[in-house]
Amino acid sequence: MSEIYNFSAGPAMLPKPVLSQMQAELTEYGNARASVMEISHRGADFMQVAQKAQQDLRDLMNIPDNYKVLFLQGGASSQFSMVPINLLRGKTSVNYANTGHWSVKAIAEAKRYANVNICTDSSANNFTDIEDFSNWKIDQDAAYLHYTPNETIAGLEFDYIPAVDMPVVADMSSSILSREIDVSKFGVIYAGAQKNIGISGLAIVIVREDLIGNVLAKQPILFDYATQTNNDSMYNTPSTFPWYVAGRVFEWLKDQGGISAIEVINKNKAQKLYQAIDASDFYSNPVNPKYRSRMNIPFSLADESLDKLFLETSYNANLLTLKGHKSVGGMRASIYNAMPQSGVDALIEFMADFEKHYG
Ligand code: PMP
Repeated sequence: MSEIYNFSAGPAMLPKPVLSQMQAELTEYGNARASVMEISHRGADFMQVAQKAQQDLRDLMNIPDNYKVLFLQGGASSQFSMVPINLLRGKTSVNYANTGHWSVKAIAEAKRYANVNICTDSSANNFTDIEDFSNWKIDQDAAYLHYTPNETIAGLEFDYIPAVDMPVVADMSSSILSREIDVSKFGVIYAGAQKNIGISGLAIVIVREDLIGNVLAKQPILFDYATQTNNDSMYNTPSTFPWYVAGRVFEWLKDQGGISAIEVINKNKAQKLYQAIDASDFYSNPVNPKYRSRMNIPFSLADESLDKLFLETSYNANLLTLKGHKSVGGMRASIYNAMPQSGVDALIEFMADFEKHYG
């Protein structure tokens, strides 16, 4: 039987060696005489797991010393409210770039706390393009600029960091660790773990120190970045197992040569798949080539009555979870760090075969 490849957008596939390692140490972690799920988060064994994971992430992303790294519960969505609560700092307005489904969600939450200036809006083109940055309408008095570097559903990805005179906040849920970035250009970076970091139940937040400690009054204590940094993300019981898995994924990524090495692979995987899509009249992707995502590649079939058959046949060929998000339709291949080149090659071969039969 051929290998199984899972193209899920998240929770997404994990690197095989990480799964094997998790299996090997599942019932007994190191010398803990219990599994990692059964030990205190404050005990020496877990503290070592927690600290090493943080240090490996710092090494991988080259995170400057004046940034705190938090391992929080609540997924990326918790940051949709934690960001305005912590970063307003006496201001009343905020800038949000609306480039897709996840921007829309972040905006809805921010509106509960601040006047939201939509500084650019891709909704008119169905989130298939990004307006030239020189035309964005930035509110210069706003507390920060929030954007989503990679929109997971439409497959729209920035190839630059917006340069503004205020903290830049990025929801990197679906692109963190996929390409090199300069962390010092950001005020806050956050990401749900279930794509390039590990499994769901964890959000990683990287926050510049000077932005901590000015939380809006009467908000939950748990939602104050200061509460979390003062307690090393252990004000209450953290998501210990997802934290451990994240640590194993970071070690794996270091073994691959780090982010610069995986970025080359990611670029090649995406280029090959887009080339296959563009070379055929049977498949298409509507996103401006300049802003096509390297992580999430939606594509549609010229004849959508074949969608169901495509999904059934691909599933039977061990290519899983290719159904597009319901708001876009068609197909979507999510090819995060853990997806090997061989998985993308298998998909391209399958697509060519399917076209030959039904095109
Ligand atoms: N932002 C982006 C870009 C996402 O892709 C997702 C999840 N797919 C979220 C936020 C929400 O993440 P969570 O489910 O962890 O809250």
